[in-house]
Amino acid sequence: MFTKNKNRWLLFNQIRLCILCGLHPASATQVCNACIDDLPWITNACQRCANPLITGKQSQVICPTCQKKSPPFTQVIAPFEYRFPIDQLIQLAKFNGQAHYLNPMADLLSDHLHDKPMPELIIPVPLHRKRLQERQYNQAALLAHRVARNLGVPFSNRLLIKTENTPHQAELDRKARSKNLRNSFHCVGSPPASVAVVDDVMTTGTTAAEISKVLKAAGCQQVYIWIVARTPKELHLF
Ligand SMILES: [Zn+2]
Ligand SMILES: [Zn+2]
Repeated sequence: MFTKNKNRWLLFNQIRLCILCGLHPASATQVCNACIDDLPWITNACQRCANPLITGKQSQVICPTCQKKSPPFTQVIAPFEYRFPIDQLIQLAKFNGQAHYLNPMADLLSDHLHDKPMPELIIPVPLHRKRLQERQYNQAALLAHRVARNLGVPFSNRLLIKTENTPHQAELDRKARSKNLRNSFHCVGSPPASVAVVDDVMTTGTTAAEISKVLKAAGCQQVYIWIVARTPKELHLF
């Protein structure tokens, strides 16, 4: 009797349920296959900036913004649009101290990256030390560390630092965002030829562009931007 109960207890604890629906057994990413299918996957996006596009063409489309002015990064890769339930998970992880929600997002991002070009180093978008003290952790660093471990690529939390504690980007328009961030990142030492910079969300791409410029000025040739979710800038019709 004791053994039977023990076995039941083990079985119960071995089956982990999906963190989103709580109904089906979770896959390795902690989300069940049905919920993975329902996530807001970006199916068509600009090949450079990952801005979601409405188009019948499936590949090699560059949005008008990137055509007009080539961005300083090589490519942005984003599996999801920033909407339900990804936005909720990110909000909980970032502002409610529930950092464990970063793990499934890092795992889903890693799965999405498995056939993409691999960099020599993975780094997070850094947080200013004052902001780090307030939040206790840098969500981008936790994501980047797990993605690096999953993909078997070296990780560094020290190559890039944020030297200016700039106001929140969300409060500023595009032009002000760019000015706000100018000279606020600093590259410590020399980066390898290719680097992937990890963050949770990308909106206008101003942070990604500024970091890319700093890394390139320090000698890096290819800067990949890997993010969990992309906020569509504007929808382009092709
Ligand atoms: Zn589910
Ligand atoms: Zn683009």
